[in-house]
Amino acid sequence: MIRSLMHMFFPALCAACGQPLHSSERMICFGCRYRLPRTHFHLQRGNPIEQIFWGRVPLKAASAYYYFRKEGRVQRLLHQLKYKGAAELGREVGRMYGRDLSRSPVFSSATLVVPVPLAAEKQRIRGYNQSTVFAEGIAERLQLDMQAEGLRKIQHNETQTRKSRYARWENVSGIYQVNTSMNMHGKNVLLVDDVVTTGATLESCARALLQSGAESVSIACIAAALRNY
Ligand SMILES: [Zn+2]
Repeated sequence: MIRSLMHMFFPALCAACGQPLHSSERMICFGCRYRLPRTHFHLQRGNPIEQIFWGRVPLKAASAYYYFRKEGRVQRLLHQLKYKGAAELGREVGRMYGRDLSRSPVFSSATLVVPVPLAAEKQRIRGYNQSTVFAEGIAERLQLDMQAEGLRKIQHNETQTRKSRYARWENVSGIYQVNTSMNMHGKNVLLVDDVVTTGATLESCARALLQSGAESVSIACIAAALRNY
């Protein structure tokens, strides 16, 4: 009863459209669950996300759940995830995507889920890593092991915003490492991040995993910021 009274006076809002949720809805309203712009790239070989990495690092597959559009529902959702302490929302979106990925043999045959790590300082301030909570939801739905500490960021690149695009790319490559206590040998790793844009961070992470003996690397992100879409 307290819950329904609370709901009456302080209705929870949908994380994507900001409208009050119906009492039977959780975190994202039914309308948004239906209308959020899914890419369906997990069913499409040679999709635009895979093309980002062609000639850079060999991947088994790559996909993103949604198209990222400025001012849209996906942007609002990502903002909630990053800055509003919405860890459970991240898990829910991960479960939603996990349901889709379970229908793709190439993704469901992964054996280990590893999120892209945040710099330790950022994670301390934010309290959690949005890629990790998304990865937790995917791992839960696909019933896979997850290794949140599989990768680590080995140096600060705080001067990044002052550098040119090329210098920035140089700056990011090689700064991710597999934690020495982790055994990646023979694993089919599903590498998880929030937004894919240039792919520089993911490329660096994928390379580190393969160099540490991973059998294969696939990529799953929440959203893809692509030109021409
Ligand atoms: Zn909504």
